[in-house]
Amino acid sequence: MNAKANKNQSSCIEPSYYQAVTQAIRTQAVQVLKDGTVAGVVGYLPGRRKGTARPALITTPEEAEKLIFSPACVNNLSVYLTKSKKGVLKQGRIGIVAKGCDMRALAGLMGESQIKREDLFIIAVDCAGVYGSGAERSESVTEANIARKCVECTVHHPEGADFVAGAATELSGLTPLEAEEMARIEALPQAERWAFWKEHFSRCIRCMACRQVCPFCYCEQCLCDKNRPQAVENSPRPAGNTAWHIVRAMHLAGRCGGCAECERVCPMDIPLNLLNRRMAKELKELYDYEAGLAPAEKGPLTQYREDDDQSFIK
Ligand code: SF4
Ligand code: SF4
Ligand code: SF4
Repeated sequence: MNAKANKNQSSCIEPSYYQAVTQAIRTQAVQVLKDGTVAGVVGYLPGRRKGTARPALITTPEEAEKLIFSPACVNNLSVYLTKSKKGVLKQGRIGIVAKGCDMRALAGLMGESQIKREDLFIIAVDCAGVYGSGAERSESVTEANIARKCVECTVHHPEGADFVAGAATELSGLTPLEAEEMARIEALPQAERWAFWKEHFSRCIRCMACRQVCPFCYCEQCLCDKNRPQAVENSPRPAGNTAWHIVRAMHLAGRCGGCAECERVCPMDIPLNLLNRRMAKELKELYDYEAGLAPAEKGPLTQYREDDDQSFIK
């Protein structure tokens, strides 16, 4: 499901691109609901406010005619196949609308035996990008308002789906802000790096929105909620916050597909995806592994190999 280079580039994503994707998704969803291929489709419907979108499970061809794909379709819908929504898959084979970054989560969840490929009908979006935080909902997508993750996207053109909607044009001349920020922090002395994260972690209010939205946080009981015995202090105080963020980062290392949903929903603007990306870089350097590129593959931290690097054991 890796990307192919796309030479089509422009300075703004035209609304006609989203309209074409919407039409293709509707046509495909109507067809698979009508012919009984799927019992339902998880996709996006218009939100209450103009220019917004909301996730929805639709089960009739009539409802499928209302599906949309717009720059406001930011959610990673794979989370609706896990956790409390496990009942969705009990209804039968399910169609799901998935951008490239969402497909990485689907692949990871298959590797962890949470979902089976044969239970899904994947309607992938050849994806040009979605809005970043604070984007004006009436504007076209440009460098100024595109999500940070989209700037450095390597999965615009997903592979391995049952159907692909649209043909993305990528924005030209984007500045890789996240990569630059990561390089800046990596160049800091250790004490300053620690001060950077300490300041961010100190603002965490432990609302757990980042956990709720993450497709890989599906444990029935999170270690961080356990209180008999208590493993991690669960009030928003410095020691507990630091422990929570270390647990989160370690638990997601080698699994996180980089959808950046955790960062998007964080009310305290904690740059969680920077930490996710740093962990992903470690995994790439240590094990030459990238999460979510191949379905049904276990990550290096969830398996043991005799030739694993042991140098971290002092
Ligand atoms: S990261 Fe890539 S696949 Fe995901 S929304 Fe952005 S452009 Fe689309
Ligand atoms: S940790 Fe964040 S970026 Fe990674 S899969 Fe979970 S929500 Fe997506
Ligand atoms: S969403 Fe933000 S504030 Fe809430 S628990 Fe996660 S990091 Fe903390």
